[in-house]
Amino acid sequence: MNSPASQTPIVFVTGGVVSSLGKGISAASLAAILEARGLAVTMMKLDPYLNVDPGTMSPFQHGEVYVTDDGAETDLDLGHYERFVNTRLSGLNSITTGKIYEAVIRKERRGDYLGGTVQVIPHVTDEIKRCIDAATAGFDVALVEIGGTVGDIESLPFLEAIRQMRIERGPDKAMYMHLTLIPYIAAAGELKTKPTQHSVKELRSIGIQPDVLLCRSEQPLPDGERRKIALFTNVPEKAVISAIDLDNIYRIPEWLHAQRLDQLVVDQLHLQDKASATADLSDWDAVVDASSNPIDEVTIAVVGKYVDHQDAYKSVGEALKHGGIRQRTRVRLKWMESEDIERDGAAAMLAGIDGILVPGGFGDRGFEGKVLTAQYAREHKVPYFGICYGMQAAVVDVARNVAGLAGANSTENDRATPHPVIGLITEWRTQSGEIERRDEGSDLGGTMRLGLQEQRIKPGTLAHQLYGREVVGERHRHRYEFNNRYRTQMEDAGLLISAKSMDDLLVEMVELPQAKHPWFLACQAHPEFLSTPRSGHPLFVGFIRAAREHKAGGKLLNDSGLSEAAA
Ligand code: GLN
Repeated sequence: MNSPASQTPIVFVTGGVVSSLGKGISAASLAAILEARGLAVTMMKLDPYLNVDPGTMSPFQHGEVYVTDDGAETDLDLGHYERFVNTRLSGLNSITTGKIYEAVIRKERRGDYLGGTVQVIPHVTDEIKRCIDAATAGFDVALVEIGGTVGDIESLPFLEAIRQMRIERGPDKAMYMHLTLIPYIAAAGELKTKPTQHSVKELRSIGIQPDVLLCRSEQPLPDGERRKIALFTNVPEKAVISAIDLDNIYRIPEWLHAQRLDQLVVDQLHLQDKASATADLSDWDAVVDASSNPIDEVTIAVVGKYVDHQDAYKSVGEALKHGGIRQRTRVRLKWMESEDIERDGAAAMLAGIDGILVPGGFGDRGFEGKVLTAQYAREHKVPYFGICYGMQAAVVDVARNVAGLAGANSTENDRATPHPVIGLITEWRTQSGEIERRDEGSDLGGTMRLGLQEQRIKPGTLAHQLYGREVVGERHRHRYEFNNRYRTQMEDAGLLISAKSMDDLLVEMVELPQAKHPWFLACQAHPEFLSTPRSGHPLFVGFIRAAREHKAGGKLLNDSGLSEAAA
């Protein structure tokens, strides 16, 4: 192959039998243990679909679009990765078949292949290997997850590329972990290993012999079954690992560590010199302890448009739970369709809720329900946290119902609104200082204001109190912005602009003064992408505390962290 191999040892993670077995979380959990042994770990996802990135896909199709610092719109598994390991990822860590073919075709048009016939093997597979090298170079170890299920036509080029990498690098630089399902058949009262045998057979038919099997089942795997699987699949018994359904995903690292999965990796990839002898999982133990022994509980309504799809607001749901973990509080999530709020009224649906969050979204369906939700929270002094579209909805509510700007709207929903308080952003400065421009005719894919950008917070505001800093960076993903022509009118109506972009041109956060409302804050960026179970995000931690205080009838609660003892 023509690109120089980085020679970073890699664990390739494939999946078999059925999809949705939690391959991303399993891979991330293994990465977390390896990190806990002092190794520098990175992770990568290879997705078999033809979209260049998931940015143009509906959340109904593929769940949330996760955004990295550099503004890449990536698979939601990158969110799991960043929640489990400390390494910050970028666009390099998420590739798709579309991205690979785009690069190969660009090279072909440029004449890079010198008259050759361009083929899946070796040109596409070489491009895949080049991307894997680029994303993994410089780390002690990398986990590379292949999306889809073995047996799919789509993932074949990826599997062929990783097969070649093992030949080229040797087994101490490339290891295969395969995730399968061991179903329990109630009528027979038995766990069935046949699907796993078939899935491994499928993998071996394309030249990949797994080194480790991670067997998903409802019950721990009995020794008899473990032996049988080992015998039929050529995998050593100690490398047949049982992965049961756990009530809390953050318990998975400990569970896998107890079966010495990390040691299998350290041994095969010869990482003994770099890895510490023991894994320090104390952070994870603290997370599990705080979530298993709550001293309080709140109910949060998340009012959005894709609530039927579990994964559409993955990071928001996780960030809310993290906010609870920081103060030993169980967070119950009530997912609500904003169109139901339009039909049944906010009061009927939101009574008894301790806090309301309106997350990001696109398009006009359900937007009015979000505006009604913000209005309800504002008028009833229920803690309100608006994120992106949720901030825009709050601004529209204040414009219409406090500033007296009848018919105010975002131009995303009403091009002819008399008061475009939210408008299409046509020009802005990126983190690196360049000016980017867009108009109504721009492509939809990859053309939003994207990625980590810094903002300056106004001292004395709720936002400032929560972050404890004046300059913070958050990740963005949106096209529309607060319209500066309305700044004064909105401020006169009582809306506090608590943060602006560093050049002062874009409104980043708004809030209601705390004298008027105990906790009403909305931001244009997506703080959920920077929340982790181990540290939580200041806005989510503050929001959950406000929900606890609301539930306690306004009683102010102490700052309480993970150290707070269980009652
Ligand atoms: N649709 C809005 C915009 O593009 C909000 C986007 C979002 O919530 N991520 O600005």
